[in-house]
Order: sequence, then C-alpha cells, then structure tokens
Amino acid sequence: RFTPPPNFIKDIIDEDLKTGKFGNRVHTRFPPEPNGYLHIGHAKSICLNFGLAEEYGGKCNLRFDDTNPETESEEYVKAIQEDVRWLGFDWEDRMYFASDYFERLYEYAVELIKKGKAYVDSLSPEEIREYRGTLTEPGKESPYRNRSVEENLELFERMKRGEFPEGSHVLRAKIDMAHPNLNMRDPVMYRIKYTPHYRRGTDWCIYPTYDFTHCLSDSIEGITHSICTLEFEDHRPLYDWFLDELGVYHPRQIEFARLNLTYTVLSKRYLSILVKEGYVSGWDDPRMPTIRGLRRRGYTPEAIRDFCERIGVAKRNSLVDIALLEHCVREDLNKRAPRAMVVINPLKLTIINYPEDKEEYLEAVNNPEDPAMGTRMVPFSRELYIEKDDFMENPPKKYYRLAPGAEVRLRYGYYVRCVDVKKDPATGEVVEVLCTYDPETRGGWSPDGRKVKGTIHWVSVRHAVPVEVRLYEHLFTKADMVNLEEDDDFRKYINPDSLKVLYPCYAEPGLRGAPPESRYQFERVGYFCVDPDSREERMVFNRIVTLKDTWSK
Ligand code: ATP
Ligand code: MG
Ligand code: MG
Repeated sequence: RFTPPPNFIKDIIDEDLKTGKFGNRVHTRFPPEPNGYLHIGHAKSICLNFGLAEEYGGKCNLRFDDTNPETESEEYVKAIQEDVRWLGFDWEDRMYFASDYFERLYEYAVELIKKGKAYVDSLSPEEIREYRGTLTEPGKESPYRNRSVEENLELFERMKRGEFPEGSHVLRAKIDMAHPNLNMRDPVMYRIKYTPHYRRGTDWCIYPTYDFTHCLSDSIEGITHSICTLEFEDHRPLYDWFLDELGVYHPRQIEFARLNLTYTVLSKRYLSILVKEGYVSGWDDPRMPTIRGLRRRGYTPEAIRDFCERIGVAKRNSLVDIALLEHCVREDLNKRAPRAMVVINPLKLTIINYPEDKEEYLEAVNNPEDPAMGTRMVPFSRELYIEKDDFMENPPKKYYRLAPGAEVRLRYGYYVRCVDVKKDPATGEVVEVLCTYDPETRGGWSPDGRKVKGTIHWVSVRHAVPVEVRLYEHLFTKADMVNLEEDDDFRKYINPDSLKVLYPCYAEPGLRGAPPESRYQFERVGYFCVDPDSREERMVFNRIVTLKDTWSK
C-alpha cells in the first residue's frame, strides 16, 4: 500500500486546530458553478474537500456558485449532484445556493456604500478596463468615484429596480486604483443583467461578482477552510478585504494547484468545443475526461478516488501522467472484475478430430486474484474463434502461439496442434486454421508432461455472442495540452484515431444480457464495460484500459 503524499493543507488545518482559530471545527465546501458537467479536475477538489471533512470529523457543503444567469441551468445542478454522489460523497442536508444569498449580499453591499467603501460607477465596460491600468502602470480613478453616499445609495437602489440598461452602471469597491495587485483596483461588485436566473427568475436584475459573492457565502455558511485553485491566490487580498470591511466571520482561503492531465483538456471551454463541433458524441462520450465520460467508459469511483489521493495536493501547477489514472483503474479492476473470454479480431479454428455434434462445458476461473469469485462453465465444441494475432503462418523466433505444426494450450481447454490452413483464394489470407486436439489434455495440461508455452483464449462458434467492441485511445496526440502557444489551435492535436469500432467480436455466452456498467477483464485483451448503447441483439463494450501498464513513477 502506498503512503499518501504530504498535504500542506492538512498542516494548515492542524495548526488552526492547535491555535483554536476556528475552535475545533473543520468545515469545507465544494462550490461548482452549474454551467457545465464536472470533470476529473473537479473530482480532485471534491475528494479534497469532502475527504478533509471526513478525516477531521467535520462537514462539507455542496454549494452552487450560481450568480451568472447567462450560463447556468437546473440540468447542470442535477448532473452535478448525481456525479458527486456517484463518486461516493454525501452532503447530507448541506446543499446551498449562492443565489439564495442575493438579499443578504445586497444588504452587505449597501453597508459598504454607507461606509464609503463602494460606489456606483457609470463608465462603460471598455472605459473601466482602460482605467484599470496594467501591471507596470497604475490605474486611473473614475470621475464617478467620489459620488456622495446618498447618490450611490439612490443609484444602486435604482439599478436594482431595473431603471437602467445593461452596462450603464456597476457597483465597485472603493479600494486603491494604484494598488500593485490589479484585483484591488476598485473591483466590480455588481452588474446589471436582464437575463432571467434559472432559480430566481426575474427577481433580480443586478448580479454580484464571484469575488464579492464567494467570501460572503463562505462566511454565511461558517466555512473554516475555503479551498480553491491557484488562480485565486491573487484574489485572496480581496477575499479578506470584503470580510474585514464588513467585520463578519472570516474563513481562511487556501489555494492549491489545479489538476492537469496529459493527452486531454480540462477546461469547460475546450470540452464544450469538442461536444459542439462533434469531435465526441456528447459530454458523456467515453473519451471525455468528464465524470460522466469516465463513468461510461467504465472507470469506478474507487479508482478515481484512489487517483485523487495519489496525486496529492501541491502549491505548484504540474501535469499528471494520464497513465497514472489508467494504472488506478487497472489495479481496482484486477481485484474485482470477473474474467471472460472474448475474441475481438476473430479467426476460425476447426478441430478436425473433435466430433461434430459434441459439446462440453469446461470450468473457468472467474478471477485468479479472488478465489471467492468462484468458477463458471464455458461451452467448447469443434469450431472455435481465436484472435487473428494468435496465429502466424511464418512466425518469428520465440513466437509461442499458433503456427503450422505448432502446439498451444486453449485456455481451460485442450492442447491443439495446427495441421493445416484454409486460405481465401483471392487474397491468400488465412481464413481458417485446422487443428487436431489431444483428448488427454483436458483442463490444460498433459499427463506426459510435455511443454506447451503458449496459451490462447477462444470462444465456441456455436455458442458465441456477437458483440460490438469500441476501442479508445487518447483524445489528443500531444501530451501537454495546457501550455499551448496563444495562436496554436488545440483542434490541431485532436487524435483522429481515438475511436475504433470492431464488429462482430465474439463473447462467451455468459456475457449475454449483462447490464450497462458491468465490467470485465477480457482475458489477454483488456478491461471492458457494457455501454448504455447496448441492445439485446447487439451488445456494446467499451475498452476501459488495456492490460499493459505504462505507468512508472
Ligand atoms: P472550468 O475551468 O472547467 O470552468 P471552474 O473552476 O470554472 O472550472 P467551477 O465549477 O467553478 O469550475 O469549479 C468548482 C470547483 O472545482 C472550484 O473550487 C475549482 O477550484 C475546482 N476545480 C475546477 N477545475 C479544477 C482542476 N482542474 N483541478 C482542481 N480543482 C478544480
Ligand atoms: Mg468555470
Ligand atoms: Mg469557477
């Protein structure tokens, strides 16, 4: 078992518990914006926030950060709840919506105006940007900055009542237009928007910004440690400023590095382009790094949680090898997934000395890693399918599978020796392998102790279930999709061969009717999961991962 990597956030919490900064409480939150589906990066944040609460006997809220009516919807709220639950976490009765705080936030804004700490600005959005200055140049104060408290109160009230068009006024915090941190140069607190909100309808036509909303939502909910990604480090002074000016309960914001994975993208912008432009079939396409995509692909919640634990949390951004994620699901499924024999590139094999109408059932082990999973009986007959790869007419040295004159073991079955082949007269391609079998070798070994190195899997033709198999590769051909040059189009790196569909493949009959999300190890081939596209007459299996582990520390 691996040792969990050090976690600087736990050090901070331990210290706060020692000094009693928040008494003996640990209270975190996971704050998604319901404007898209969750991805593996969000899973890291979910595991971290819910995991810390669990570990310290604390609490974790699920809070929808829903202050932008243009992009949010109920559909996403539902999907996010489902995904968090599927990952194995429970917010119990602690589900909150920032949009429920609009009234209180408005009161807080009025309080800041009264203190002379906020003002209504009537510059255009472009002018506001222009006046902000740059990293090397101080900003310029707006001519509206010194409006009286009375005038600000009246204008803000009228903004709320819907008397002004969008973009005509904003409410800004009055901090310092020469502050070295641009976020502190009189940041916008409220904007006018007439788009109805998915929960609040037309109650409001002014909407608070992330910076003003987030710290106060944390404060209202009594959060102790507000964990967010590194981009918000520069926003922390503002987080603290609002809470200090208002003199309210003050949680601690802690930033950690966001997860980046090789050969994929984890930004909603890129992911939605993949969906909209049809590069994938939807948000739940098994190639997508979304929770729904991973789930449909066949990933288990346990594997995703294990992955999140292994990558740990850091203060520096980095790129995690997707092979580690694959390694985690492989480890999990190796212990749990029942084995099955499925031939994905079929070649017919006929045993010429096996009676034509005979069939027998051979005992096969369900999982060599777990004897408790027992055995099953697999039908065997004269005509079988084997993998094309398991036969070579002119084999190189050290090829231990089937070749003219060579003998192999049929898994759980008999030894067979290739005595002839049938070829397609037009192409010369081998279309059938003719073998003899040794009846003394039932079960896979011979009384005379002769050595057979190769073991291959097979499926009886008469009993086979024809199935569709979908093989997936990485979505992108480039490992580092995070640090693209600005003028570099990410579409250039989309892997044109990320999906390969094989049909018919042949499965042993025990797989017939397995429901979606059933996972198997197809012996010698990989781990597979039943896709919801499956129909009774045509089951569909997604390849979760191959058997070969490419991850190394
Ligand atoms: P995106 O860039 O995909 O839109 P976001 O940060 O805008 O992501 P939110 O819904 O606001 O999406 O995210 C909810 C929480 O998940 C936030 O606390 C955010 O910090 C965290 N989160 C999002 N992406 C990652 C990531 N790649 N790694 C770690 N945490 C993440
Ligand atoms: Mg976002
Ligand atoms: Mg966000």
